[in-house]
Amino acid sequence: MKLGGGAGPVHSLQRRNHVPSSGGVAHAGLGEFLLDLSLLDWHCQMGVSSLNDNDSHYRSPDEDYNIESRNMRALARLAAAVLCLSLGLAACADLSSGAADGLLVVATTSILGDIAAGVVGDEGEVEVLIPIGVDAHDFSPSSQQASLLAGADLVVANGLGLEAGLEDVLASVDDGVRMLELAPLVEPIEFRDGGPDPHFWMDPVRVGNAALLVASALDDHHPGGWQERAAAYAGEMEATDQEIEGLLSSVPQDQREMVTNHEAFGYFADRYGFEILGVVIPGGSTLAEPSSSELADLVAVMNQSGTSAIFAETTQPSSLAEAVAAELGDDVEVVELFTESLGGPGSGAETLREMLVTNAGRISGALG
Ligand SMILES: [Zn+2]
Repeated sequence: MKLGGGAGPVHSLQRRNHVPSSGGVAHAGLGEFLLDLSLLDWHCQMGVSSLNDNDSHYRSPDEDYNIESRNMRALARLAAAVLCLSLGLAACADLSSGAADGLLVVATTSILGDIAAGVVGDEGEVEVLIPIGVDAHDFSPSSQQASLLAGADLVVANGLGLEAGLEDVLASVDDGVRMLELAPLVEPIEFRDGGPDPHFWMDPVRVGNAALLVASALDDHHPGGWQERAAAYAGEMEATDQEIEGLLSSVPQDQREMVTNHEAFGYFADRYGFEILGVVIPGGSTLAEPSSSELADLVAVMNQSGTSAIFAETTQPSSLAEAVAAELGDDVEVVELFTESLGGPGSGAETLREMLVTNAGRISGALG
């Protein structure tokens, strides 16, 4: 009896377009734990074949590949609903309002989740694997989080090495689950030292194109209003691009130089005419550690240029950036930007649009 695939989707029903705020499904509360027990018990009693009809509305002739995972989701929903009815759990209230047999898109990062949610709208659910505030480069999923992938109609990943800790899990996802890696499809650029740069979401125009790609991937198997919503989302991103241009207009050309914690702003620099002067963590991800000579080189570069800020990030400790700033004296400030994840409530980065505008405002404030 396969049980592992059922535990994740229970949690996907708790909140629509859900982004876990800390620890994700791995840190389930007592109510969710009870739901898990119920699911496992229910699954043992019922098997999976008896619930096929629950999904018939969404199934087209070429979708049989995903019947079992759909059944698992339907089963999870039914088990959870029964438990809610029997125990009267207030926390279960929105289970009954969720689409009983809707489409499930799983995104690896909260940023990709924002893009996917913009395309999916209310025609399905979007789940995010990597919790808010967690660095995408350095995240390894629990088995329960990984099991969420098996129930997805579409997995939206970034690719180009961003999700280093997820690569084994993504590679092992059943062939029946469709995978869309966006970064390789939006005209990727290279890091300063070579190699493809995965951080495409720092360019709102590429983000808009990515939304259209998600719509096309969904169109392949599921009729829906994806293209219309993706076009609207892309339009919002065009407007975001203009807003960012406006915010940055106060930064003179000769001050458009950035020193960042890791090389996450190549696409931003490319679009808005900045130069990445240096990074604290070498190598394009956050997984390396700088040597003392590399840090000394960075201090020398900053001294020479006279740049006045180091841009740290919300998903990494700022201690190294602060140490470099301290070497340079009181005139250099450390400014935190959102890089690998959206922010939590009240952060000014609850959506990708907000995140990009907030970052631009802080960059403009520091360099303008
Ligand atoms: Zn990064």
